[in-house]
Amino acid sequence: MYTVNSDQMEILKKLTQVVQKSIAPHAIETDTNGTFPKASIQALADAGYFGLTLPKDVGGMAQPPRVFVAVVEEIAQACASTAMIYVMHITATQGILKSVTLGERESLMRDIAAGKHLTTLAFSERGSRSQFWAPVSQLTANDDGFTTDAIKSWITSASHASSYLSSVQKPGAESPMEVTLYIARPEAKGVEIGQGFNGLGLRGNDSLPVTFNEMTVFESDLLTKQGEGASMMLEVLLPWFSIGTAAMANGLCRAAVRTTAGHLSSTGFEHTRSQLRDLSNLRSRLAEMSVRTEQSRALLAHTVAEMENPTELTPLYVLQSRLAGIEAAVDVTDLAMKACGGAAFSKHLNIERLFRDARAGWVMAPTADHLREFVGRALTGLPLF
Ligand SMILES: Cc1cc2nc3c(=O)[nH]c(=O)nc-3n(C[C@H](O)[C@H](O)[C@H](O)COP(=O)(O)OP(=O)(O)OC[C@H]3O[C@@H](n4cnc5c(N)ncnc54)[C@H](O)[C@@H]3O)c2cc1C
Repeated sequence: MYTVNSDQMEILKKLTQVVQKSIAPHAIETDTNGTFPKASIQALADAGYFGLTLPKDVGGMAQPPRVFVAVVEEIAQACASTAMIYVMHITATQGILKSVTLGERESLMRDIAAGKHLTTLAFSERGSRSQFWAPVSQLTANDDGFTTDAIKSWITSASHASSYLSSVQKPGAESPMEVTLYIARPEAKGVEIGQGFNGLGLRGNDSLPVTFNEMTVFESDLLTKQGEGASMMLEVLLPWFSIGTAAMANGLCRAAVRTTAGHLSSTGFEHTRSQLRDLSNLRSRLAEMSVRTEQSRALLAHTVAEMENPTELTPLYVLQSRLAGIEAAVDVTDLAMKACGGAAFSKHLNIERLFRDARAGWVMAPTADHLREFVGRALTGLPLF
């Protein structure tokens, strides 16, 4: 679907082996116990996938957006929690790659590519909730550089990541949109990590609140120049996050279509000697699921081609892809629940896990509400904010 060359196909074939051997076997336990999928993430690190999109001279694989989405879609079919952790990691990695201010940029990228450093995003704050573009925390200058107090409300991989790519208002900002991005370290003085993520879906995510109490931010930790974080957010992080979460949604949809088709074809009524697939209403649901899935995948395939050769329409495609993906995942997994009935409601088909995991994409910012607003604004020539 995402049109890859033969070298890229080899990367994907190797990934399939990693997924089958080291990720899929942990998916149920991850969901049931709400535990971070440590072994799955380690398997991706060991096989080099932490550096998928980093340049070869730092040990990365230098792969474009189309390979990223194909990788995420494959992982998500087995374990959406692992896929989400990976999307956050690759998105933050892109920020590090594009930084012109970060002190340890090169060594950080080498550590990431070597599988020694997991990173993530820390944008959401208690005070600005889903409106990630407007942090309420602020930097204050001092002799060591800066300090900040922040209540970051959700950080995926919070107690397992080696760094958090964070947002803050620049010192003396006159508007919350005067954002600076920086790297925070979980082991820094003043960092307090919450405990026990217990979500409806993506239960392995370790998405916890983290408080920064008078935490020092050194000049060399700045990922952007002061007040120039919004452009990195919108031009680098938002696109990679959007295509990654769209790919995750597409993976959930594919898993739902496959499992539903398998169930309808293999289960039946003894008294009429017929199968579930002989009921036209169930076939109709399955057809709708498949159409929604392939529509979303086709839009994403077009969007990654746009990102690789940008035009003025690329940002619009990026937003639309995420919107189409997260809405398809909610609808397709809902249809799967209805098509498979009690067999889906119970846990043995795995469909209820897909249904719960799919709800998370809708809630994460930019939410479906924000995306509708952004797309409508872009189409009518209004500024996004
Ligand atoms: C599993 C999971 C993992 C997450 N991981 C991370 C992470 O790693 N890093 C991170 O920074 N954040 C993360 N988040 C947080 C996420 O991105 C959102 O910030 C958070 O879920 C929003 O919380 P809220 O619904 O309380 O927000 P609220 O802002 O209270 O939203 C409530 C409702 O209002 C709507 N709404 C809000 N503003 C507008 C508007 N302007 N126009 C129309 N409707 C609006 C929303 O769409 C939503 O339906 C994660 C969330 C989840 C669920």
